[in-house]
Amino acid sequence: MDYLFQNEDRLKTIINLTPDIIYTLSPEGIITFLSPSFERITGFKKKQWIGRHFSELVHPNDKEQAEKIIKDWPRKRTVVLHELRIISRDGSYKVLEFTIASEIVNGKLIGKIGMGRDITRHKESEAKLKESRDNLEIILKNIADGIVVQDGNGKVMYVNDAVVRAAGCSSMNTLLKQKNLYQSLELKTQDGMKFKTQNLPNRRALAEGEDSEEIVNYRNMTTGEEKWSHIKARPIKNNKGKVVTVVTIINDITQRKELERKKDDFISIASHELKTPVTSIKGYVHLLKKAHKPRDEHVRYLEKVELQVERLTNLIKDLLDLSVIRSEKLVFRNEKFEFSELAQEVVDDLQRTNTTHRIMLETNGIKKVVSADRDKISQVLANIIMNAIKYSPGSDKVKVKLLESPEHVGVAVRDYGIGISHDEKDKIFDRFYRTKDARAKTYPGLGIGLYLSRQIVVKYNGKIWAETKRDQGTTFCFRLPAESI
Ligand code: ADP
Repeated sequence: MDYLFQNEDRLKTIINLTPDIIYTLSPEGIITFLSPSFERITGFKKKQWIGRHFSELVHPNDKEQAEKIIKDWPRKRTVVLHELRIISRDGSYKVLEFTIASEIVNGKLIGKIGMGRDITRHKESEAKLKESRDNLEIILKNIADGIVVQDGNGKVMYVNDAVVRAAGCSSMNTLLKQKNLYQSLELKTQDGMKFKTQNLPNRRALAEGEDSEEIVNYRNMTTGEEKWSHIKARPIKNNKGKVVTVVTIINDITQRKELERKKDDFISIASHELKTPVTSIKGYVHLLKKAHKPRDEHVRYLEKVELQVERLTNLIKDLLDLSVIRSEKLVFRNEKFEFSELAQEVVDDLQRTNTTHRIMLETNGIKKVVSADRDKISQVLANIIMNAIKYSPGSDKVKVKLLESPEHVGVAVRDYGIGISHDEKDKIFDRFYRTKDARAKTYPGLGIGLYLSRQIVVKYNGKIWAETKRDQGTTFCFRLPAESI
C-alpha cells in the first residue's frame, strides 16, 4: 500500500510539474480534470472550466474541428496531434497542440485523456519568419536585376522574375524545366565571339570557388531581341571550404551599351571628317618646307608642325581603326613580308621626325617572314615606339631589339621612362584604359593605341605584353608566327 501511495504522490508531482496541460473529458466532451499548467497558460482558474464542454474553450473557427475530434474518439485509439486555438483570460487565443486518447475499460468508453502543449510562441516566430521570407520574396521578385541561386551541384534553387523574363520564358516553372537557363539564348562575348557556357561566372564560381564576373551579350532565339548583361557570381562555402551555394546577379546594361555604340558612331564620323583637312595641312607643310632653304629658320618651325601633324594623323588613324574594329568591318590583309625590313622602315620613319630620342635598332641578323597585314603590323610597332618616347621624357634613347624562336619572330621595345605599376600592366591593353599614375596623365592620349595593337597582334595568332617596374622603364614585346627564309 505504502508503495502505491508513494507512486501516486509521484504521479501527482509529475502532473503538477509538467509544462503541458493534462486533461480528462467525459465521453460527451465535458471537462473533468485540468492540470495546474492550464492556469499558467490561459490565466483562468481551473474550477471556472471544470464541468463545461471542451468546445467552449476553443476559437469559434476551430469549434467544428473540435467537435469532430470529440465525435471521432471512440473509434480512434491512437494518439493524434490536433492544433487548436483556445481562449485565455485576457481575450487572446493561445495555439495548443493536443493529443487525445480514449480510456476504455472492459470494452466500454469511460472518457478521454490527453495533453495540450502551448506552441503559441513557436507559431508566432514561424509567422514572423514567413512574413520576412514573403517580404524578401517580394523584394527579389521586383528587383530589376536578375538573381539566380544554385546549390553546390549547380542545381537551380531560385530565380526571380527578371531572370525568367531575360531567359524568354513564360514562368519560373518552364524555366526550371529547361536543361539549362540559357537554352533559348545565343550568348556572345564583347568581341562578338561565341560565349562558352563553361566560362559563365556562375559556372566558374562553382568550379573555382572564387568571385567571377563577365559582360555577356545575349539574343533571344525566338524573338530575336538582343540584350547585354553584366553577370557577377559569388560562391558561398561551408566551414570545410566546399561551395554549397552560388548567388548570381545579372545586371541589364543594354542601355549603357547602346550609349557606347552611339559614342563609337560619333568617333567614327568625327575621325572621318578630320582626316581630309589634316591630310591637306600635311601636304601644304611639305610644300612650304620645299620652298625654303634647308637651313632656313622657318624649316625648323615647319618640322615642329610636321611632327604635331604626324601625331594627329596617327591619332586619327587609331580612332578610325577603333571604330572599324568595333563594327567588325576592319579588313585584315594577308601578305608575306620580311620582318626586320619592316622594323628598319618604322624606326627610320620615326627617327626622321624625332629629335629627343635615339631609336637604336638591333636586328641581330634575324631574317623571318611573317604573313599578315604589313601596314597594321607597322602601326603596332610604331605605336609602342611612340609610347616609349612619350612616356620617357627624362631619357634620350629607346632600344628596339628583334628576337626569334623556331616558329616566331618578336620585338622588344625598351624605354627608360616612368614605367607602369604591376597591377596595371595587363589593363593598359583595355580599350580607353589610361594609367592612374598622375605623371602619365600629363601626356595626351586616348588609351586606344595598345588596345588596337593587341587586337591586331591577336588576329594574327601572336601575343603582346609588357614587362615593367615603376620608375625603371618598360619593355613592350610582341611576337608573331614566322618562317625562316
Ligand atoms: P595612350 O598613350 O594614348 O594613353 P595607349 O593605349 O597607347 O594609349 O596606352 C595606354 C596606357 O598605357 C597609357 O595611357 C600609359 O599610361 C600606359 N603606357 C603605354 N606605354 C607606356 C610606356 N612605354 N611607359 C609607361 N606607360 C605606358
